[in-house]
Amino acid sequence: MESPSGKPNLFGLDRAALGAIVAGLGEPAYRAEQIYLWLYRRRVRTIAEMTDLTKGVREALAATHDLRWPEVVERGHSRDGTIKYLFRLDDGATVESVYIPEDRRRTICISTQAGCPLKCAFCLTGISGYKRNLKPWEILGQVATIMHEVHRELGGARSAATSEGGFRGGRERPPYHARSAPPEMKTKAWNVVVMGMGEPLLNYESTVIALRALMDPDGFAVAPKKLTLSTVGILPALEKLMQEPVRPNLAISLHAPTKELRRELMPIEERYDIKDVIAAAQRYPIPHGGAVTYEYVLLGQVNDRPTHARALVRLLAGSHGKVNLIPLNPAPEIPFAPPSLEAIDEFCRILSEARITVSVRRPRGQDILAACGQLHLKRGEVPVPAPVAS
Ligand code: SAH
Repeated sequence: MESPSGKPNLFGLDRAALGAIVAGLGEPAYRAEQIYLWLYRRRVRTIAEMTDLTKGVREALAATHDLRWPEVVERGHSRDGTIKYLFRLDDGATVESVYIPEDRRRTICISTQAGCPLKCAFCLTGISGYKRNLKPWEILGQVATIMHEVHRELGGARSAATSEGGFRGGRERPPYHARSAPPEMKTKAWNVVVMGMGEPLLNYESTVIALRALMDPDGFAVAPKKLTLSTVGILPALEKLMQEPVRPNLAISLHAPTKELRRELMPIEERYDIKDVIAAAQRYPIPHGGAVTYEYVLLGQVNDRPTHARALVRLLAGSHGKVNLIPLNPAPEIPFAPPSLEAIDEFCRILSEARITVSVRRPRGQDILAACGQLHLKRGEVPVPAPVAS
C-alpha cells in the first residue's frame, strides 16, 4: 500500500519507531518524544509545525516521511447530531466512524478493519465481506480527524498548533503549557469506542499501538475507562491484552444465551466457546471506574423471548458486569427484524429482576444509516469476500 508520495507516514508510529528514525538522523533520543507530542497530543498536520525541532531535523524528516490523516470522502449529518464519517484509504478501501454527541459526553466510534471476516448474521459489515486490517495511522486518524472537526465546528478559536507551538528546541523538556492538550480535549470528556467495522482483536498489533497512543496522557489522553474495546472474544488476543500495562474498558458481543443459538448467529462460536469467553472477560483487569459490558443485539422472535432472557440470567450468574441490549438496526440486506417494544421491555425486566444491570441502547443516527456498515454499502463499495476468520 503506497501513499500518494511514496513516503511512509509519521502519524501512527509508536515511540520505538520514532526513536529509530531519530537515531538514524544522528539526533538525541529526546527528539522522538518531541515528535510524539506533536503527533498525538498537539496533533499538528505538518512536520513544519514541529517548532521545537531544528529546521534541519524538520527538513530531514520531511524528506523521508509524510504526515497524513486519512481522507474524509463523506459526512452524513443526522438530525440528532450524530455524524457518520466515511474515510477512503490509499488502496481505495473505505471505513466508517461515527461521532455521537450526548448531553454529558461525546463519543467517537472507530473501525479497525476494512470490512470484517467474522460474518455475524445480523451485521452488515460481515455481510459485505472483508478487505484488510487497518494500520495504526488509519485507526488513530479517525479519532484525530473527528476531534479536530468537532472542535472546529464548535468554533474553537485557534488551531491546536498555533495555540500550543512556539517553545524553543534544546535539551530541556518543553514548558508545561506547551505540552498541554489541544482545546477540543478541554471542554467535554471524549469517549472512544472500538465498535465500528471489524474485529479489533483480529488486528491486534495495530489496534494496541493505537490504544496506547489514545490512552497515553502525553498522547490523546483518553481515560482508560472511557475507551471501550468491543470484541466477540478472540481468546488468545484477549489474554494478550490482559498483559498490557494499561488496558481499555471491555465490551463482549454475546448476542445469544446459549452455544447453540450463538453459533447460528456468530460463526466464531465454533472456535471460541461462549462460556470460555465469559470466563476470560471475568478475569480481565477492568480499568478503575469501568465495567465489563455484555452486548446483546435483540433480533425479533430470534433471541428476544423471555426464555432467552432467563437463559442469559443463568449464563451470567455469578459474573460481574452489565448487559447492554441493542435493538437491531434493520436494513434490507439483514435477514432479521427489530424486536417489538414489548419484547424489549420484558427482556429488560427479567434481567433487572435478576439484579443484572441492564441498559437499552437508544438508536442514534437512524436517518443517516448509522448502523454498522450501512454508509459503506450505500456507496456500493462492497469489499471482496472474506477469508475464513483466523
Ligand atoms: N467485532 C467487534 C466490534 C464491531 S461490532 C464486536 O463484534 O464486538 C460492534 C457492535 O455492533 C457489536 O456488538 C454488534 O453486535 C453491533 N451491531 C452490528 N450490526 C448491528 C445491527 N445491524 N444492529 C445493531 N447492532 C449491530
